[in-house]
Amino acid sequence: MTHSHAELMEQPLTVLVVDDDPAARDVLVAELEGTGCRWETADSGESALKLLRDRYYPVVISDWIMPKLDGIQLCKAVRALGGPYTYFMVAAMRNNQTHRLLALDAGVDDVLPKPIDKDDLASRINHARRVIALEASVAAAHRIASETQTRLSDAQKLLMTATQRFEELFDGLPIACFTFDHEFRIREWNRESEDLFQTQPFMAVDRQVWDVFRSKSKKPWARNHLEGVLRGEVLQGVEWAMKRPDGHTCHMVVNIFPLRGLDGAVRGAICANVDITLRKEAMQQSEASMRRLNEIAMELERERLKLQDANKQLEHLAVTDALTGLRNRRAFQALFEEEFAKHLRTENPLSLIILDVDRFKNLNDKYGHTAGDHVLRILAEVLQRSSNVGEYPARYGGEEFVIVLPNVGAELAFERAEVYRLALESEDFKYSAVTASFGVATASGRLTDAKKLIDQADEALYEAKRQGRNRSIHYRQMIAERLSLNTRAA
Ligand code: GH3
Ligand code: MG
Ligand code: MG
Repeated sequence: MTHSHAELMEQPLTVLVVDDDPAARDVLVAELEGTGCRWETADSGESALKLLRDRYYPVVISDWIMPKLDGIQLCKAVRALGGPYTYFMVAAMRNNQTHRLLALDAGVDDVLPKPIDKDDLASRINHARRVIALEASVAAAHRIASETQTRLSDAQKLLMTATQRFEELFDGLPIACFTFDHEFRIREWNRESEDLFQTQPFMAVDRQVWDVFRSKSKKPWARNHLEGVLRGEVLQGVEWAMKRPDGHTCHMVVNIFPLRGLDGAVRGAICANVDITLRKEAMQQSEASMRRLNEIAMELERERLKLQDANKQLEHLAVTDALTGLRNRRAFQALFEEEFAKHLRTENPLSLIILDVDRFKNLNDKYGHTAGDHVLRILAEVLQRSSNVGEYPARYGGEEFVIVLPNVGAELAFERAEVYRLALESEDFKYSAVTASFGVATASGRLTDAKKLIDQADEALYEAKRQGRNRSIHYRQMIAERLSLNTRAA
């Protein structure tokens, strides 16, 4: 148990009185009575040493001259024991300078002159008490110092292990990390940074960030950002690129976090870079191939449109007469059959006009085939111009033309034929007057074959020729006339 200085000053001291002379012991004990000390006694150096080994006596007053173990030897033995400090006084008749030095050399604190003077003893005891208390507090301070030392060295060890672990961790991080301090000087630089930036730690550490990442275009934004981080801002997901020593451009995403001390102040920052070069290159490649694909698709579309145009032209050619631009015979046939089927379905009227140029051979012979062609083209124009909406003129072949008239009955069909005929008659054909003969037929309920209607129109046309040309004849009218003739003949 240890006591503070103040406690020791208040507690009664236990004094071990050592003397082989019982009378001398009694005298000393009697004198101690008045000092407020407690005491114990021993009658020899050996028995005193035995007691001192067992327990602590703050003060020993020993006779100098004793058989076997004298006061000086006992003091040396006590000092050899160690432990808390024992204030050792020897009582001696011999009290000259030489003796005193001898005693002090042996570790004695005080030489008490015999015979004992009561006041002198009291004042020396007081002194002893002060020394003990001081020794105790020095010892306590010592203990605290040594404990502190131990704790400090433990802490030191912990710190070293922690630092080592941090360095190992930092170094082994799978992303390129480095730290920099408040002067933007790089402090740590891990292995990934070494690989990614192709820069060894000795080339980076202690240098300022922008000296390490020197770029031709000194971007002020980088510095602004880093300054912001040192003011406590966090920088996240910023993309940047650098040209590495091997000439390869490296694309990265960077996160920078401020590092704070215990007081919360920003001491520096940690910067983590993730290499996105492959991703970026893949993206650029796919963008390029997308662009190429798009070009090809556009090319294809252009080709498709060209093909469509060509097909339309082909289709048009297939149904168009080359000389006149009217529908050709094939187109007429298809249209006519369709209209005939519609007529059968709906029972709406359907009429057909066939016309043939009169004495065309003569014109050809007189003015030539080219003139004949010219006449046919003009004739087609006249037919086209004269046609109503829903009437379909077509070239049937040679100098024969047809006009399909859906929803047109016999009477109106005849009128329409006359309109066409008169239009031709009054047209200027440049070479000579041109006329044509018209045969008209209208489908009736009894007629179920489209071809039959063509035959009827043809028959009527033949009749028109026979009757002198440049006229229109409706098949029904023709039949009716023949019937009345037959009746009259009969
Ligand atoms: P009609 O019909 O009044 O009885 O007498 P036509 O002279 O018109 O009769 P024909 O059928 O004998 O003669 C028709 C002529 O039309 C014969 C042919 O050379 C001519 N022809 C047919 N197609 C064309 C053509 O595309 N161009 C030219 N220039 N002539 C053609
Ligand atoms: Mg003819
Ligand atoms: Mg003819």
